[in-house]
Amino acid sequence: MSQKRYKILAVEQENSFTKTLTLDCNDAVMPGQFYMVWVPGVGQKPFSVSGAKPLQFSIADVGPVSKEIDSKKPGDYLWLTGPYGNTFKLNGKKAVMIGGGYGTGPMRYLCMLAVQNGITPNLVIGARSKDRLMKHPASVKTFLCTDDGSEGRKGFVTDALAEILKNEKIDAIYACGPEKMMQAIGKAAKGQGIFCQLLLERYMKCGFGMCGQCSCGESLICVDGPVYGLEILDNPEFGKFHRDASGRKVNL
Ligand SMILES: Cc1cc2nc3c(=O)[nH]c(=O)nc-3n(C[C@H](O)[C@H](O)[C@H](O)COP(=O)(O)OP(=O)(O)OC[C@H]3O[C@@H](n4cnc5c(N)ncnc54)[C@H](O)[C@@H]3O)c2cc1C
Repeated sequence: MSQKRYKILAVEQENSFTKTLTLDCNDAVMPGQFYMVWVPGVGQKPFSVSGAKPLQFSIADVGPVSKEIDSKKPGDYLWLTGPYGNTFKLNGKKAVMIGGGYGTGPMRYLCMLAVQNGITPNLVIGARSKDRLMKHPASVKTFLCTDDGSEGRKGFVTDALAEILKNEKIDAIYACGPEKMMQAIGKAAKGQGIFCQLLLERYMKCGFGMCGQCSCGESLICVDGPVYGLEILDNPEFGKFHRDASGRKVNL
């Protein structure tokens, strides 16, 4: 797959440390898919698509590559390889999409596709505090949760999910965020027999199955995922261990 250079058309501040970049790229990409984004002289990292036609990424400034992307302005360029990865499967009539931190990007995009497909979505967005919450579309019923209670419900996204499941018949649950959060969501969905898909994001170097950095047990997230069904709950590494930059297995 060859690398291409794309111009940045717009940069929108989502919160104090996350920006959404719109690129001059009209690839037909779906939520779940990702690109390897290269910043010359700094490095290459995977980023989930948070919108398409034109392509969007929502990127949190946490380290060298993301910081460099965060400093980009409209008219600057990014180098992309992709798209890679599988996509979500929309299912039923009513759904819940749950995003933790920057994981809200692909969930927000999935919500908009659900609406276009006649599915009623509930969007749940979680963050540590108000200044880390991502924006949400006014047209979608949204539940905000913060760990410190500075905005929305004080507590975890799983509390909001439990409330929704008590009040509505939900056909499908989708989530992207920290693995422990997705593990709890997956268990709740399994307990109630609800279709569920989870988008995993692990440290990744190549994006096409060579480096093994993103492995989760016997699965490679870049080629087998990043979207998984509830079978991931039986993976012995899911929600427990990942690999750090050096490839060492560490506790999550
Ligand atoms: C499929 C996939 C999709 C992704 N999509 C997005 C996205 O849409 N938006 C976004 O902001 N980031 C996303 N990431 C994470 C992103 O690829 C980078 O890991 C992140 O930007 C940090 O890179 P860095 O070079 O800036 O900092 P680094 O020095 O690599 O990391 C800074 C800190 O973040 C931790 N970290 C890095 N990557 C991960 C990870 N995947 N999970 C947990 N902790 C991590 C490191 O341990 C370190 O503590 C995605 C990752 C994957 C695998």
